[in-house]
Amino acid sequence: MKKIYLILTVLLVSSIMLNAGPSNRYITEHSCSKAKSAILRKGCTISEKLIDRGLSQAANFWTSADGSQDEFIDFCTKNFCKNLEEKDRLFERLCTNFETILGHNNRVTIELLRPSHVKGIESTPVDDIFGAYNGLAHFNEDMFNNKLAFIVIMNFPHFTLREKVNNGDNWTIRQWGYVRLGDLFTNRAPASAEQSINAATAAAENYIANYNIHMGMVWSDKNIRYWSQDVKLITHWGLRDELKAAYSDPVSGTDKQSIIYNILTRITDQTIAEDVIDKSDYIWYPSTNQTYVQRVEIKGKSENNKRYECLLRNFRAIKASDEYYEEDNFITRKFEGEYEISVEQAEKLFRELLSSPQVKEVAEFISKRLGRRLHPFDIWYDGFKARSSMDQNKLDSITTSKYPDAEAFAKDLPNILVKLGFTRPRAEFICNHVTVDPSVGAGHAWESMMKGDNSMLRTRIGANGMDYKGYNIGIHEFGHNVEQTISLYEVDNYFMRGVPNTGFTEALAFTFQNRDLELLGLTNNDTITDDLNTLDIFWNCYEIMGVSLVDIKTWQWMYAHPKANAEQLRNAVLSIAKEVWNQYYAPIFKEKDQVILACYSHIIVDPLYVSAYPIGHLVDFQLEQYLDGKKIGPEVERIFAMGHLTPDIWLQRAVGQKLSTEPLLTATSKAIEDVANYDKQIKKEKKEVKVTKKKKSK
Ligand SMILES: [Zn+2]
Repeated sequence: MKKIYLILTVLLVSSIMLNAGPSNRYITEHSCSKAKSAILRKGCTISEKLIDRGLSQAANFWTSADGSQDEFIDFCTKNFCKNLEEKDRLFERLCTNFETILGHNNRVTIELLRPSHVKGIESTPVDDIFGAYNGLAHFNEDMFNNKLAFIVIMNFPHFTLREKVNNGDNWTIRQWGYVRLGDLFTNRAPASAEQSINAATAAAENYIANYNIHMGMVWSDKNIRYWSQDVKLITHWGLRDELKAAYSDPVSGTDKQSIIYNILTRITDQTIAEDVIDKSDYIWYPSTNQTYVQRVEIKGKSENNKRYECLLRNFRAIKASDEYYEEDNFITRKFEGEYEISVEQAEKLFRELLSSPQVKEVAEFISKRLGRRLHPFDIWYDGFKARSSMDQNKLDSITTSKYPDAEAFAKDLPNILVKLGFTRPRAEFICNHVTVDPSVGAGHAWESMMKGDNSMLRTRIGANGMDYKGYNIGIHEFGHNVEQTISLYEVDNYFMRGVPNTGFTEALAFTFQNRDLELLGLTNNDTITDDLNTLDIFWNCYEIMGVSLVDIKTWQWMYAHPKANAEQLRNAVLSIAKEVWNQYYAPIFKEKDQVILACYSHIIVDPLYVSAYPIGHLVDFQLEQYLDGKKIGPEVERIFAMGHLTPDIWLQRAVGQKLSTEPLLTATSKAIEDVANYDKQIKKEKKEVKVTKKKKSK
């Protein structure tokens, strides 16, 4: 998913590049109006407003190397469509040809990556080189050089997010297609700008990829070592997941959690000693930060802001490319261009949930369940995950015998769709466009980008068949494949394919995944499963929305202080993290000035990506709530055939409401009540059993 999304981002991020800027661009106003007169003289019936917009946007990109003023006027006169019929004919041809280019190149990438993605293919020394090859690396440049980009821009100009949001509801799907085509060539950044961003990202990725903590060398302040020598945990994912897993350890869970919390804090504030990162030479007490070799204390050198140097390098590379875009900065590009939600709207949604009264209610409930006061690390409380009452071994044996290999799973996919309410012919059609492979990694769904090609469903399938985990992930990925197929085949035109942003495809994947037991013919006896799911989503949002705010504020600070050094950046990030913590978390956890919200590795390697998670959670929740009790098949076919609208228009048409925290907040209040009643009931039943037992023993 990730990789393919990158290609799309490069092509579709909506921004207008100002090669020279309207004020100092090469093409003059006079040339633009001469071109317009010539076009009108030719008998063009397209609205003058659209002619002005198309010419002015094309003029912004045209340099002297592309031709003289007269050549610009000639080019526009020749290539501007005369009427709507001509325009639609051009649009159709562009749909066909871009589908050919993007679709086949996507297939090339899938095939070149096959040895590293699919199990059972012997590796050769050339695999990595082919895997890194990108046939579309110079696509943008080529399209400007052969002037195809100019033909697209003048006939299908770009519209801003505000224009899409304000007018999009009145556009036909064909007009929407024109507008999406107008998102295709919106910057002419030189390859060197792209390269320096890639180099900065690669350096940050490399820094985080090697950031392991050898847990066998970590001791508690009570001199206990909880982990064996072979346990290595990567920041922050591995450490956080271990912290979450410790909720199921009633004896030393809390102690382990506070150790991991200290580690994450020291990584974030950079007091961690360099010698405990990815090394096992020193015994480390994270609470006091003392390090020892053979019982002798060694004062290790701290990491010295390396973490923030990576972030700074990312910022500088990205900022250097700002001049090629119309939007003033990367924050606007990421939010308005990619998520199609303004940063203000995202912040408003996040702050709404963070300051909702439900936070306190859920926190009190967690504290009651844990039987202790809350600690700051309880932002990662994991006890709402509805654990299946089914025995894991039994589940494994069911799925391995049902799905001994990829073919068996592929053969059953149409039946799965029929169970979800799709008609048999529609189920067969969709599944004929999905290919199942056993995966090397955890699994993924790789979309097809042209009709006639298949999307790829990859999940783990062992020698003995597909275990329950492989099946569970397989069903999630299948949800992606179903979205990918419907939103490619059933949309009006090629440029409308897809969904508003990643959150929307994840929403369908989770809708499928949540029904995995039901699809095996098993029912979960737990009456409060849905309520627990709601509380889990709510608590996840509460945690990640704080992280997202820190990420956003950090980028705003960097733009306000472009000359800052790594030390100043570190201090700023820590004070932003504390500020967000003190506002929304300290009143709940009764501890001030925590920096933990800045511990996410995404903040360093994947700028402003974290916000995609809470947006996805909200979409997922709204979709699930709408589908509850309905036949999924026909609804999914209707909803995902709408294609790439903006998030609010899509949601309004899909589920009848815009992107909102309200459904989740309402459901959370109800869930707290239900689960509290359920817990009371269980307690009462246990008491009664005890009393009966006592009576019997007397
Ligand atoms: Zn997914």
